[in-house]
Amino acid sequence: MNIVILSRNPQLYSTQRLLEEGKKRGHRMEIIDPLKCDIIIEKEKPTIYYKDRYLDYVDAIIPRIGASITFYGCAVVRQFEMMNVFSIATSGAIQRSRDKLRSLQRLSKAGIGMPKTVFTNYSRDVEEVIEHVGGAPVIIKLLEGTQGLGVVLAETKSAAESVLEAFNGLEARVIVQEFIKEAKGADIRALVVDGQVVGAMKRQGKEGEFRSNLHRGGSANIIKLDTDELRLAQNASRVLNLPVCGVDMLQSARGPLLLEVNSTPGLEGIEEATGKNIAKSIISYIERNKK
Ligand code: ADP
Repeated sequence: MNIVILSRNPQLYSTQRLLEEGKKRGHRMEIIDPLKCDIIIEKEKPTIYYKDRYLDYVDAIIPRIGASITFYGCAVVRQFEMMNVFSIATSGAIQRSRDKLRSLQRLSKAGIGMPKTVFTNYSRDVEEVIEHVGGAPVIIKLLEGTQGLGVVLAETKSAAESVLEAFNGLEARVIVQEFIKEAKGADIRALVVDGQVVGAMKRQGKEGEFRSNLHRGGSANIIKLDTDELRLAQNASRVLNLPVCGVDMLQSARGPLLLEVNSTPGLEGIEEATGKNIAKSIISYIERNKK
């Protein structure tokens, strides 16, 4: 097969691993920068031009679309869809997953457990907002934050009020969330491929840090998920129509609670922590599904 990895940076671990595993299985692998693709729209003949050629020979794509290039990246993925090329993530699902609030709304409607969350239009009644999630301590998150930046733990009511007022003043959109103390600064990342969990790790924040992001100095270890955790990861993947995704959750006294679903999950942390060949699972998924 001709498989294209849509990625801006060929040097990234995930990109390299997918390239390597695809080649091992006999596929012609290519890394293409989605921002360098021209989308050509013409009656009944959608095509893509890249450097000096038309990409009319591609069988499947692996989109690795970073948050900052969602708009153009998804337009390129959509064009491949118009050309009947198989993609491990549809443009619509990637785009929808980038809206954290919208994703949480859909997931909660589908019966998936999550920390109690409030979103307001810069409400001035800060006290009431905090009460909605059961009072301090609360977590305050910037809607467009990544890698734990823009996630604040406000331990007291007055801290929560001043943080909320500051964000409101900057017109930065935030969600206020119940703080899950029992998680003890750890979270779980489950890697889903073809709707099934193929690997899971527990990430622990460094001493005194409530955020477990590896970019923030956390450490990761392999973990065996229980039935509820497996079900949550698989349901989240199904509800958001992302057969390949990373599902983050917290362990709480009332069972696993969903934090977020990532449509372009990194492979480095999870392959290292679990020793599993996730890149190979993704290539096999394409082989099974490409018509
Ligand atoms: P990002 O998308 O920026 O990584 P997250 O929502 O995943 O933001 O939050 C970063 C980290 O903060 C999580 O991995 C988790 O360890 C911690 N965290 C987030 N929300 C909560 C919460 N409601 N209760 C306890 N810890 C949380």
